[in-house]
Amino acid sequence: MAGKVVVLGSVNIDLLVSTPRLPCAGETVSGTSLTRQLGGKGANQAVGAARAGAHCILLGAVGKDEDGDSMLAALNSYGVDTGRIRATSSATGCAVVATSPQDNQIIHIAGANSDVDAILAADVDLGPEDVCLAQMETPIPATATLFQRARAARACTILNAAPASTAALDLLPLCDILIVNESELALLAGSDAGSMLDDQSLLSSRSLLGLQSGQTLFVTLGADGLAIIGQDAIQRIAGRSATVVDTTGAGDCFCGYLAAGLARSDPTDQAAIEANAAASIAVQSFGAAASIPNRATVLQSLG
Ligand code: ATP
Repeated sequence: MAGKVVVLGSVNIDLLVSTPRLPCAGETVSGTSLTRQLGGKGANQAVGAARAGAHCILLGAVGKDEDGDSMLAALNSYGVDTGRIRATSSATGCAVVATSPQDNQIIHIAGANSDVDAILAADVDLGPEDVCLAQMETPIPATATLFQRARAARACTILNAAPASTAALDLLPLCDILIVNESELALLAGSDAGSMLDDQSLLSSRSLLGLQSGQTLFVTLGADGLAIIGQDAIQRIAGRSATVVDTTGAGDCFCGYLAAGLARSDPTDQAAIEANAAASIAVQSFGAAASIPNRATVLQSLG
């Protein structure tokens, strides 16, 4: 029987404002639309795992407010198990995302996502078949506690070190798999972005990060797919051709799908091939959670 995926992470309401151009400091510009949608890396990755067919439990916190209720309803509609998400006295996390054709600006208010006690109040039984997945938008002590529990239960732990933060270095000893994009790798390894992408540099980045032999490094490479870097060998999985509409959440889709594949006990490279295909489909439509395909679509695309 497949294990479950336990995602610990953020739940936000994303307020997406479109404008022909972003305002300068002190300036007002006219926008063209305002859309409210489910956001937060935790929520997006949980949707990815659920769309990939896993039983996915999300651990997190929202406010006791209308936004919290509507984000929980959205998560439920994607099949995410929200029974352990706590409602706290803080407001639901919120990101105001202003987008113009040239650029974007984001203001994030963590709100309930900062409430370590609420996030960890939920108890989850973990076993060796389960996979725990976390990112960097919720407090480090919460992730550390979950990963320690997972280690004790011999469950797999995956850290997606996004958004980029050197605080992730403290969690590395607790993870079986580290997933980073190019800029996150550069920050954690203390090098220039783009300078570490040949095989030899990727292999040596493991020691810069202090990874041990049992730990696996995944580096996602956008349109170029990804690299899986083990102790002595590197495996590249080529990017799939895609007509890009919106890359928001591509990394989250990848992480959720990978976790679901590993919870099914798929070999790591097979889980990665599916996750790469899922993310390449996700970039072909708008939205983060909304663009994540279901598994039947992904398998069909793989032929
Ligand atoms: P984001 O922050 O946009 O969610 P990210 O920076 O975390 O993404 P990327 O490496 O850009 O991560 O993308 C993650 C995965 O998404 C890639 O490994 C690949 O599978 C897929 N992907 C991203 N961009 C493209 C693209 N242009 N064409 C095909 N697949 C893509």
